[in-house]
Amino acid sequence: MDFKLDPGQQALQDRARKLAEEYVAPRAAKWDETEEYPWENVEQLTAAGLMGMTIPEEYGGAGRSIFDAIVVVEEMAKVCGITARIVVEGNMGALGVLLKFGSEELKRRYLPYVLEGDKPAIAISEAEAGSDATAMQTRGVIENGEIVLDGSKCWITGGGVSRINLVFARIVENGEEQGIGGVLVERGTKGFTVGRRAYMMGLRGIPETELHFENCRVPKDNLLTVGFRNLMSAYNSQRVGAGTVALGLAQGAYEQALTYAKERKQFGRAIGEFQGLRWMLADSRIALDAARLLLYRAATELDPETGYPDKELAAIAKVFASEAAIKITNDALQVFGARGYSRDFPLERMARDARMFTIGGGTAQALRNVIGDSILGHKVSQRKEG
Ligand SMILES: Cc1cc2nc3c(=O)[nH]c(=O)nc-3n(C[C@H](O)[C@H](O)[C@H](O)COP(=O)(O)OP(=O)(O)OC[C@H]3O[C@@H](n4cnc5c(N)ncnc54)[C@H](O)[C@@H]3O)c2cc1C
Repeated sequence: MDFKLDPGQQALQDRARKLAEEYVAPRAAKWDETEEYPWENVEQLTAAGLMGMTIPEEYGGAGRSIFDAIVVVEEMAKVCGITARIVVEGNMGALGVLLKFGSEELKRRYLPYVLEGDKPAIAISEAEAGSDATAMQTRGVIENGEIVLDGSKCWITGGGVSRINLVFARIVENGEEQGIGGVLVERGTKGFTVGRRAYMMGLRGIPETELHFENCRVPKDNLLTVGFRNLMSAYNSQRVGAGTVALGLAQGAYEQALTYAKERKQFGRAIGEFQGLRWMLADSRIALDAARLLLYRAATELDPETGYPDKELAAIAKVFASEAAIKITNDALQVFGARGYSRDFPLERMARDARMFTIGGGTAQALRNVIGDSILGHKVSQRKEG
């Protein structure tokens, strides 16, 4: 495994870092405070070609790899978690499903939206179907060349903002259930409404909302694929992306703590000279390296069958990075003392933002079940009916 960036990737990283430091960082607190979607940042990301960079060149993208995309994600997350999440969803997740399973016509119609800065939303979760996603009740009935969607989703990142929505539903044809499918629904389609926004602990500039579908009709071609496994294989890239947002938040907090530990003096010495803090920072450094290596491995050792990150490697990387990020951001906050807890500094925001990643996109427990199923060779986490 050689994870050295090639000159093209190095240039991409430098470009992303410059944009993050000069433009994204000074505005990060604003989105947290106002809870507004960072459209100004989206404009910059779009102009820099960082939205849809994984789209093949024949469709107007840069044909970049998932690895390239996470290099950018880390740079954004070092200064602003929500901007990094937009880069994830603008390059992975639902976009991956569209690229792999969408018809030529759908790709020609919807990929330009992403290149114009629209991050697709992915709607899986329901009130009674969280970790147990296959218990979802939203139905998509095929009739007369259309799919008729009925049901409700919750916690959807970018609900109401995203023009493209990939909605998971139980597909029914001729009265028979075919399995769980992914249906593309454009914002504004009749019968599709955006419901209540949930106000969250962190990552506040992107809305998490309910989505409701009532007799919502879309052409049958909008059904990208049927089969939960197919859909989730493309979703593994989003897990690698989410793990990288956690990594970037942790890296950013750690770098600030390192600088502060050298500058802040107590008892006549820099606080970084005290063993209690030296070891804390050393532990952060160890965990950051480990998380990055696991994420890089997951982003490069792709499943040969699907072309997407391997399920087990993605789960390992996301669990490790998300748990490490909670500790690292909190330790960085500790290094800053009262300043760390103050809203005058970014540490408290970064710790709140990092807290999410052991929950969204598969909880740390659900992903341990994925790993357990894989290493033990059979599923032990089956759904209990009734
Ligand atoms: C900020 C944010 C953004 C999100 N964005 C999206 C989105 O864009 N699209 C989308 O579809 N969803 C989204 N989600 C929802 C997310 O995917 C779910 O929260 C997640 O799958 C867990 O479901 P749940 O919250 O219902 O928890 P539950 O599944 O009810 O779990 C509750 C607790 O029980 C544990 N648990 C459950 N089952 C098991 C088991 N078998 N073994 C051990 N422990 C278990 C869980 O780990 C957790 O600790 C988002 C969530 C958040 C917080």
